[in-house]
Amino acid sequence: MAQLIDGKVISKQIKDELKEKVAELKENGTEICLAVIQVGNDTASSVYVGNKKKACEYIGIKSLAYELPEETTEAELLNLIDKLNHDDAVNGILVQLPVPEHIDEDKIIKAISPLKDVDGFHPMSVGALSIGQPGFVSCTPAGVIQLLKRSGIEIAGKECVVIGRSNIVGKPMSMLLLRENGTVTICHSRTKNLKEVCRRADILVVAVGKPKMIDASYVKEGAVVIDVGIHRDENNKLCGDVDFASVEPIAGAITPVPGGVGPMTIAMLMNNCVESINIR
Ligand code: NDP
Repeated sequence: MAQLIDGKVISKQIKDELKEKVAELKENGTEICLAVIQVGNDTASSVYVGNKKKACEYIGIKSLAYELPEETTEAELLNLIDKLNHDDAVNGILVQLPVPEHIDEDKIIKAISPLKDVDGFHPMSVGALSIGQPGFVSCTPAGVIQLLKRSGIEIAGKECVVIGRSNIVGKPMSMLLLRENGTVTICHSRTKNLKEVCRRADILVVAVGKPKMIDASYVKEGAVVIDVGIHRDENNKLCGDVDFASVEPIAGAITPVPGGVGPMTIAMLMNNCVESINIR
């Protein structure tokens, strides 16, 4: 049976450590503040924003909520970001994605100061990660590294295969595994012999966006399998990109869905907010 990598327990550990740090900072007169902007009232986005607010409250981070109507123009949103960029009391700025179609997402991502880019999506943050300089790192892949480290899984020298090359998961995931001295292969929809490549992996990170696509035939016996995917199956139950029932018996360690990578994303967002005081 595989070791179960418990994201609920590990994310709670991280949040509790951050809570202590934030209390210490407060004692020394420093308050951390996150501004969260939501445009429109997409239900899923409202849930994510609500969860971020709750996490801030738990840790002691001040949160400012900007709930803007769907008709907000790009110029109005850019103005607000500019105001928050220049507000010394604000450490982090997050615009909940996706934004409505009439707003250019790339322009919004670029407008946030790289010094307050707690989502780690700004090209400067991405560039800093790729050349090993300090900067904000995308929260989900940063969470995967914490899951591995805090479960005692060595990355250095390991064959790491990442399925997916998106800007928010696959690419930063690969850069982070490389930074930890893994030997990294990135797979995507044009990869030939995907199964063979995956079966080389000591650590297989799956961010393919296809429910239960990865079964035991993609996995080497004893491999560590990290499932980033999140979907609802035919019975409306949450599931990942990995077919857990098939893979768990042969994996060395595996993350469940829910309760694996999911809870880590918000914990790492909170970590980025606290880290913002060190990014200049
Ligand atoms: P994307 O859809 O942006 O990327 C999917 C990647 O998988 C692409 O690079 C694509 O290749 C590749 N791919 C698709 N089909 C295949 C295939 N048959 N064989 C090999 N590669 C394939 O997804 P995201 O990166 O945004 O998200 C991935 C998963 O993670 C989703 O399930 C998403 O819901 C989940 N997610 C979970 C988060 C969390 O907090 N737990 C946060 C973010 C995402 P190509 O580039 O060639 O098209």
